[in-house]
Amino acid sequence: MPRFKRILLKLSGESLQGEQGYGIDVKRLNEYATQIKEVLNMGVEIGIVIGGGNIFRGLSGAGKGFDRVKGDQMGMCATVINSLALSSALGAIGVKSRVLTAIRMEPIGEFYTKWRAIEAMESGEVAIMSCGTSQPYFTTDTGSSLRGIEIEADVMLKGTRVDGVYTADPEKDPTATKFSDISYDEVLSRGLRVMDITATAMCKENNLPIYVFNMDIVGNLKRVMAGEPIGTLVHP
Ligand code: UDP
Repeated sequence: MPRFKRILLKLSGESLQGEQGYGIDVKRLNEYATQIKEVLNMGVEIGIVIGGGNIFRGLSGAGKGFDRVKGDQMGMCATVINSLALSSALGAIGVKSRVLTAIRMEPIGEFYTKWRAIEAMESGEVAIMSCGTSQPYFTTDTGSSLRGIEIEADVMLKGTRVDGVYTADPEKDPTATKFSDISYDEVLSRGLRVMDITATAMCKENNLPIYVFNMDIVGNLKRVMAGEPIGTLVHP
């Protein structure tokens, strides 16, 4: 039995760039698609929100003189590009998916509603929800919290390139230790950057647990669903 029945999987755009440092690494993309297929075959309903940091981030654009709102809109378009890439990679291995866009852009994707996403998942398709929240000044982490709550997911699985939540950034501080579980309040009071504050606060207020794990190791998504304690659970 899978640990959760319906999941919201957050994939980082930045991780999609793999070793190449920009854009979409096809190897990483295909690995993600294969991992998703494995979990779909366990009977899990899957909603996905994917970031866009491998292509464009509004905040870094603003630092280079871009208008922040236009920059954020560029970032949201980047999430659509990544969503289409993932949908295509899933299709290539026989997995049906539906790209929904929170900003109207038919025929690229159907306009997002909670019910369209649920309908897709209930019919065995992967629902890929793009454009984040559709609003500037937000992130796809907040988009994931919002969509996870809306689609009544049992958990938000935050796939990252680290294997959980640490006392400090393990890439910078070798003495950092990992939590097996931690409360939302402790994440917020310790200022741990699991996700941005808005995203964490939304999960806290709506009781959506977050499971942080390393999605870049092939097989990890299935391990999480099988109940292996490989990451960190953030809970009430
Ligand atoms: N973005 C936005 N509103 C949202 C979600 C995303 O404006 O609701 C923009 C924002 O500029 C962000 C970019 O899209 O920097 C890409 O998303 P994010 O940085 O969350 O991607 P990730 O870090 O997961 O690759």
